[in-house]
Amino acid sequence: MSELYIYNSYTRQKEKFEPITPGHVGLYVCGPTVSGESHLGHARPYVTFDVVNRYLQHLGYKVRYVRNITDAGHFEEEGREAEDKVGKKALLEKLEPMELVHKYTSLFHWAMNRFNCIEPSIEPTATGHIIEQISMIEDIIAKGYAYEVNGSVYFDVKKYAASHDYGKLSGRVLDDLLETTRQLDGQDEKRDKADFALWKKAAPEHIMRWKSPWGVGFPGWHIECSAMSSKYLGERFDIHGGGMDLQFPHHESEIAQSTIAHGCAPVNYWMHNNMITINGKKMGKSYNNVIKLTELFSGDHPILEQAYHPMVIRFNILQSHYRSTLDFSNESLQASEKALKRLWEAYEALKGLTAPTGQEAGDAALDQKIRQAVAECADFMNDDLNTAKVLANLFDLAPVINSMKGGIIGTDAISAETFSLLSNAFKVYLEDIMGLQALQQANDEKLEAVMELVIQMRKEARNRKDFEASDKIRNMLASAGIMLKDEKGGEMSYTIQ
Ligand code: ZN
Repeated sequence: MSELYIYNSYTRQKEKFEPITPGHVGLYVCGPTVSGESHLGHARPYVTFDVVNRYLQHLGYKVRYVRNITDAGHFEEEGREAEDKVGKKALLEKLEPMELVHKYTSLFHWAMNRFNCIEPSIEPTATGHIIEQISMIEDIIAKGYAYEVNGSVYFDVKKYAASHDYGKLSGRVLDDLLETTRQLDGQDEKRDKADFALWKKAAPEHIMRWKSPWGVGFPGWHIECSAMSSKYLGERFDIHGGGMDLQFPHHESEIAQSTIAHGCAPVNYWMHNNMITINGKKMGKSYNNVIKLTELFSGDHPILEQAYHPMVIRFNILQSHYRSTLDFSNESLQASEKALKRLWEAYEALKGLTAPTGQEAGDAALDQKIRQAVAECADFMNDDLNTAKVLANLFDLAPVINSMKGGIIGTDAISAETFSLLSNAFKVYLEDIMGLQALQQANDEKLEAVMELVIQMRKEARNRKDFEASDKIRNMLASAGIMLKDEKGGEMSYTIQ
């Protein structure tokens, strides 16, 4: 298989990838809502689509990768309409909404950096695209698929569904939706329960508000992605990605809005990563198992037995195919840590070996085995980006490299060409495509001494109840990649990333 095949969630089959413009790919991924810290559930889509971006670039495509920041909007949570998360949290934290947005956007970028995710080409914000959203809503109203009631605008789902495949992406049936949609605030003003908000009138206490043709209000959540993706990637673009949990209502609504506004389906390939479970349980507030990324890196969460390096988490995510469920547990993360170390040791050993010069392999069977394993890696990636199988193949080659390093077999067991293929495969797959890095070990004695001093200073600050100084020390260390963990009895430990 020398061409890339992608599983399209919309058609539910693997399809050969053919970009709209040869040599170019438009990729849109739903970004974070920056009303709070990113958690483990956010790590999977961003690592997954980072690999999609990296692989497309590896294949020679010029990728325009757009990932938005949701910093305003009317959100829905677990099937229920919720308040504006940013506005609500800003009140709670006594911050200006944009202060809150800045804080959590920075924290998100920091975490993405730790995961070695390549920055998107454009990172548009919802608040920066209110005009585009209003204009798109006007367009949908003009085309007869949205209506205004009391300063809010709703999309007419029933009318749309009469002539379009509403529910095709998420597999939902409109009649079921009508029956299962719960009674919600402001729902009475909708013509139909299944209709969703494009614009909401702002209540007096709502702090994030903009003028619109329908009065003062704020945009619905779904419309921002339709407005921003079409602005930067065109009315029809190549790939739209996100977590499976976004299929409904978010992506289903995006399809409906964009199809009406632009007269064509917006996306050629829909890609969705599966969800993460923790110790076999769904992640959620009710299970008390939502682990923030900072907690994962510091180990500061009751579920965690230790701190986990961002590369271990990244590796663990890539050890499963992105469409499989992924269960997080201390055991699996610890196994990943060991495996990544072994794999990296083999990679380092390989770099240190002297390449054979012979064209003939001393051990034809081994030579053939390596060539096949390397060739398969390309096939696995082209088969809907099966990173799990690629890593397994590289892992299988580690003992061969270790035997060469230990002198048990000579490098001349394989031909010069095969040796070069092998070296190239480790570099390309591990570093360029999977985006993995070496685990840095923090054994520097001088650093230990400095950390002892800093920890002592923080303890003193806490003892005199100077929490501002104590937080400052922790935050500054965190931004330098050193995570402090408060242990029992006032002790502190640290990990370096
Ligand atoms: Zn979105």
